[in-house]
Amino acid sequence: MKVLVAGAGGFIGHHLVKRLMSEGFWVRGVDLKRPEFEESPADEFCVADLRESSAAAAAVSGVEHVYQLAADMGGIGYITRHWATIARNNSLINLNMLEAARLKGVGRLLFSSSACVYNLQLQGGSEVHSLREEDAYPAFPEPGYGWEKLYAEQLCRYYRDEFGLDTRIVRFHNCYGPLGTYDGGREKAPSAACRKVALAQDGDEIEIWGDGEQTRSFMFVDDCIEGLLRLMASGYTEPINLGSEELVTINELFAMTMGIAGKRLRIRHDQTKPQGVRGRNSDNNRIREVLSWCPSISLEQGLRATYRWIAAQVASATGTSGGHVPEPVSEEPQRAAKPVAARR
Ligand code: NAD
Repeated sequence: MKVLVAGAGGFIGHHLVKRLMSEGFWVRGVDLKRPEFEESPADEFCVADLRESSAAAAAVSGVEHVYQLAADMGGIGYITRHWATIARNNSLINLNMLEAARLKGVGRLLFSSSACVYNLQLQGGSEVHSLREEDAYPAFPEPGYGWEKLYAEQLCRYYRDEFGLDTRIVRFHNCYGPLGTYDGGREKAPSAACRKVALAQDGDEIEIWGDGEQTRSFMFVDDCIEGLLRLMASGYTEPINLGSEELVTINELFAMTMGIAGKRLRIRHDQTKPQGVRGRNSDNNRIREVLSWCPSISLEQGLRATYRWIAAQVASATGTSGGHVPEPVSEEPQRAAKPVAARR
C-alpha cells in the first residue's frame, strides 16, 4: 500500500515514516523541511508548502492512505503568541489536504487533532477530571491553535458526510521522545526539562514556567505511533483521545528528570511565563473500548530514553560530556501490549 505522511519532517511524522517503512509500506513524506536529526527513510520525500493547493494535490497523488500531521505548532510559548499565524497556516493546510484527498480519490485520511480542542473551563484546576471525547462541546478551546483543530475536525466530518471521504480523527495529548525539538521555543515540557537538566551542573539553578503545580500527562512517541496505526486500521471515524493517563505536575516531571540524570538542582519558578491550562489529562475509556489498547509506556521509562538522547545532543553541541547519563534498566521502553501490524 502507498501511504503519504504529511509533516514527515516533524517529530511524530518522522517516527511514523520509520515505523511504516519497517512494516513494508511504500511511503511518501512531505514537509516544509527535512527531519532535523537524521535522514528520512521514506521512499520519496518532497519538500513542499501544503498551504499551496497545488502542493497538496501533488502530495496525495497515487496514495491510498494519508496521515495528515503537518501543522504550524510549538510549545505553550509559541502557541500563545501566534494565534493568527497558526490559525491561518493550519486552516490552509487542512483545507488543501482534504480537498486534494477528495479530488484524487484517496481511500482514507487521518487528521491529527489535539487536546487543545477541549473546553478550557474544564481545565481550570490542578485537580483535573480526565477529558472525555464529548468534553470538546460546548466549544471553548485554546485560542488560535485549538479553534483551528476543532474546525478541521468538523471539516473532516463534512467531507465524510457530503463526499464520502473516509476520515479518522485523533486527538493527541502531549507526545514526547527522542528526535524531537528540544530548544528554540517550540519544544514541549519533557524536552525542555531534559535540556535544562542536561545543561546544568550539579547545584545549579534551573527555571520552571509558572508555579510548577500545573498538571499534564505525557505520551511516549512509540505509544503514539502504535495508536496511529491501530486507529488508521480501525473502522472508527469519530474523534478519539490518544494520550497517557499518567498525570504529573510539572514539578514532578522536573524532579523525575533530575533523578534520571542523577543531578541535584535548585528550582526557580517564573510566574510571568505562560503555563497553559492548569490541569489536563486524557480519559482513555473510548480508545480502550474501540481499539482494545491504550498507551502504556510509563513516563519514567519514556523520559529515561528521551533524556539519554537529549543529553547526548547537548553534549555534542556544547562539546561537554553532558554529565552522568545512567544506563537504562532496559535499553528500550517496555510496551505492555504487543504491536499490531496496520491493515495492508
Ligand atoms: P512538528 O512541528 O514536529 O511537526 C509538524 C510538521 O509540519 C513540521 O515538520 C513542519 O515543518 C510541518 N509543516 C508546518 N507547516 C507546513 C506547511 N505549510 N507545509 C508542509 N509542512 C508543514 O509537530 P509534531 O509534534 O510532530 O505534531 C504532529 C501533529 O500532531 C501536528 O498536527 C500537531 O498539531 C499534532 N499534535 C501534536 C502534539 C504533540 O504533543 N506532539 C499534541 C497535539 C497535537
